[in-house]
Amino acid sequence: MSAYEMRANFGSSHILTGNQLRAALDDLLQKFTVVAPVMADNKLVYDEVKAVGDIVLDDGLPYKSPKEIVFPRVEAVMRFLENRVEEAQVIKPVLLVGAKPCDLAAMKVLDEVFTGEQGRYKDSFYSNRRDFLTIIGMNCREKKAGCFCEERGINPAFSLDCDGFLTLQDDGAVYEPLTEKGTDLFSGTDLFSGTDEASINSASHGDEPVQDGAKPDRHSVESEGPGMGPVPDGVKLEKMLVLEAIEGEVFNSMPWEKYAEGCIGCGTCTFICPTCHCFNLRDSEKNGIVTRTRVWDSCMYPKFTLHAGGHNPRTKKYERFRQRVLHKYLYIPENYGCTACTGCGRCIRSCPGGLNIRNTVADIRSQLETKREVHV
Ligand code: SF4
Ligand code: SF4
Repeated sequence: MSAYEMRANFGSSHILTGNQLRAALDDLLQKFTVVAPVMADNKLVYDEVKAVGDIVLDDGLPYKSPKEIVFPRVEAVMRFLENRVEEAQVIKPVLLVGAKPCDLAAMKVLDEVFTGEQGRYKDSFYSNRRDFLTIIGMNCREKKAGCFCEERGINPAFSLDCDGFLTLQDDGAVYEPLTEKGTDLFSGTDLFSGTDEASINSASHGDEPVQDGAKPDRHSVESEGPGMGPVPDGVKLEKMLVLEAIEGEVFNSMPWEKYAEGCIGCGTCTFICPTCHCFNLRDSEKNGIVTRTRVWDSCMYPKFTLHAGGHNPRTKKYERFRQRVLHKYLYIPENYGCTACTGCGRCIRSCPGGLNIRNTVADIRSQLETKREVHV
């Protein structure tokens, strides 16, 4: 049984036929602003849904991640008026449907960084949006080109990092509420009255099933890889792609120039990444009102680290590429206990220069192992 079939069964579940699933989604559309996979310009993307028929619940991984729901590309955060300052953020409750396990893992990384779970900094603009977000996750059935989520310790068939989980079947799906929010979504409806209690073919990953009435919350279940979902039995930790190194071992001794060959500094890899979260603040004035806006930024841009005094610590392309890789695989793990790469493969599929972060990290690991063996 592959990891794409292995999953855990937590608590009560409901089998929905295709028609029942569409009726359930239609019901949610009447109550919420729903974001789900839809087709736009011939690409599958997470976007706001207008009609239930637009939702594409199949095995495709949307081209872009859903991070824009909680961390918009451009967001007004403050307004400076003549006598006062006011917050400019506008938020509304959003229901995200069909988030894949890799994107749920990525949201958990963003949570670590932005919500101060580790007692660091709390970003109120992110946290406000996050508090108003309800998420229904969905399984992945087949590996796509460039994906390496299993090597990152993510179970593509299931995740607890959401409020309810849909497991797609040949016709319809199984819905499992995982939190109070996920249960409340359908309270007051009779959608499940004619449905069967599911008996899911599952291979447990070792966790005990949750007792009736005790729904695990987003952070209550230990995972093998911090910031990741439960690891299926078939994935051994020694095969996980992590960079167990200290900065001094890799900063100057790896062939970074070779790794970065072909990079044109377009920034696509960072904008498309579900865990990248760098931003800039810009002020603009109109009719005497100054608006402060937060916009995405990218460490792959030559002027990203340009200081006000004119010094730029990363003038070379390879230095910027090194920063991106080490930020994800060394600095975030050191600071937050989770790797900021889910193996979604988006940067690999979208890079015009053909760069591949998975292969870079695997090569560094292999070089480190060789070096360490030599020194034993
Ligand atoms: S997408 Fe590729 S070419 Fe563009 S900045 Fe990233 S690594 Fe460089
Ligand atoms: S670095 Fe690439 S593979 Fe890793 S999470 Fe970001 S886009 Fe996905």
